Amino acid sequence: MAIEDQGAGGNIAHTGRDLLETPGLNRDAAFTASEREQLRLTGLLPWRVVPIEEQVELELEHLRRKGDDLERYIGLAALQERNQTLFYRVLIDHLEELAPIVYTPTVGQACREFSHVVRRPHGLWVTPDDMGHIPELLRNAAEGEVKLMVVTDNERILGLGDQGAGGMGIPVGKLALYTAGAGIHPSHTLPVSLDCGTDNPELLADSHYLGYPRPRLRGPEYEAFIEAFVEGVLEVFPRALFQWEDFKQHNAIRLLDRYRRRIASFNDDVQGTAAVVLGGILAELRHRGERLSDQRLVFLGAGAAGTGIARMAEEFMEREGTDPRELRRRVMVLDSRGLVFQGREALKEDTLPFAVPTPLLAELKMDSGPRHDLEEVVEKVSPTILVGVSGVAGSFTERAVRAMARGCPSPIVMPLSNPTLNSEATPEQIMLWTDGRAVVATGSPFPPVRVEGRDRVVGQANNVFVFPGIGLGAIVSRAREVTDGMLLAAAETLSRLVSQERLEAGAMYPNLQELRPISREIALAVARQARSEGVGQLCSDEALESAVDQEMWEPEYLPLA
Ligand code: NAD
Repeated sequence: MAIEDQGAGGNIAHTGRDLLETPGLNRDAAFTASEREQLRLTGLLPWRVVPIEEQVELELEHLRRKGDDLERYIGLAALQERNQTLFYRVLIDHLEELAPIVYTPTVGQACREFSHVVRRPHGLWVTPDDMGHIPELLRNAAEGEVKLMVVTDNERILGLGDQGAGGMGIPVGKLALYTAGAGIHPSHTLPVSLDCGTDNPELLADSHYLGYPRPRLRGPEYEAFIEAFVEGVLEVFPRALFQWEDFKQHNAIRLLDRYRRRIASFNDDVQGTAAVVLGGILAELRHRGERLSDQRLVFLGAGAAGTGIARMAEEFMEREGTDPRELRRRVMVLDSRGLVFQGREALKEDTLPFAVPTPLLAELKMDSGPRHDLEEVVEKVSPTILVGVSGVAGSFTERAVRAMARGCPSPIVMPLSNPTLNSEATPEQIMLWTDGRAVVATGSPFPPVRVEGRDRVVGQANNVFVFPGIGLGAIVSRAREVTDGMLLAAAETLSRLVSQERLEAGAMYPNLQELRPISREIALAVARQARSEGVGQLCSDEALESAVDQEMWEPEYLPLA
């Protein structure tokens, strides 16, 4: 007897030591006595058979004993390379504790130290030297049918900038969360680094640097590199869903707009962020019985995240019936030069649609100078929702937050910048400055804040609440495109799944441990929306439901035939 898997070269039979070294099939000490006998494992494992529940406990004991989170990251990566089923069981059962290690914030440190800490690099590496044979690389990398790729060019890794080859930690971590959250089987996923060089001088000077040691491709050469990769994917995996990850703002939006109709793709930094932030806001508004169209939103930060959220919020308001001319009063954005308004210098193409028109500026009495900062904008506009995506710690000043609280009984304040130290203000400060009246959600996890003897829970606007479900929904519906409607469906579904109890405690988001059922509902909503827009396959709700359930892999050791 042997265990078989569908390797690139067809069915491969594994027994003995080779089986223990195949991470997708290995069970370590969980192989039973009869399996050990039949699979030529006798003598290769200690005597006792250890059930998976106990293996999970032992792995956790081992992880918790380690001195710091980077060591825990390395330990979990080693487990993933040794016993995939156990890795995902541990991750799913302890997601709240381990998501911050597998992904942000710890993954950022792993990306920085990549060339020095990674033992067995994982995924597909593409460099400018590979331009002529990308389809061959894709075939080499795939373990089976690739249904989902997370692709980065490493230029804007979290808030850490250009990390060169180290950026691979992000697609690897993100795909681990796709599997944990939505059960997409790891053999159907492929992390990809488009390693087109780096402009990070420290990496270029490091003699141990593992990546392509040249300055970044720019201009037409960069465009040709991306085009060659997309062409290769369309040839080898024409049905795969493609997730753009951590591209620099302008490239992120331009590439998404250029390719989203040619290859089913979405950008989590822009669209996933938008869906998760809007989802939380809609949950809180539903709890209050209010509409988005009646709010005034101010965004501090007009990058990939800020413009993405603002775009989706406006689309939702239009669907609620807001006149497009009214949107400029409802949504305002600030970048590092203050309020974005018509005629201002250094306006970027991505922020132009949000520029406040001159007559409105005059009406708000903000036509006096070249710069209007957050404090002035809050005074004049009286926002009900303030979103921080600037990456700048402390940029929600006491004056700005106090001014907001004067104009609004229960302000929604979202300091979303990561990691924790970059948060625009701490939840504790916001509660203090608003006399405990604010509802706060953050980008990084924060502990509850005690207000008048009660704990106010701080919800985390974590993209993981939406991207696994969006991916799964697009895969099962075989979507040709990921439309704005599908992303809005994800946001609305998330908003309905935040429990009354969480909302009453002040959290705009669910608990991470509820992720699997949330991803399932989001996947169904996304797939139904793809069907109704004519970009996904036509099948009944029942068929979609059973396709979603079939695609959601549960990591467990099934009895061997
Ligand atoms: P980005 O680099 O594309 O954009 C940053 C923006 O902030 C730019 O518009 C810049 O002009 C502006 N800015 C810089 N300094 C400023 C200042 N002092 N005042 C006002 N604006 C300023 O980055 P991004 O991808 O948009 O991400 C921004 C932040 O949002 C990051 O810290 C990231 O971690 C966080 N984020 C959080 C979530 C989440 O919570 N789910 C999701 C995505 C991004």
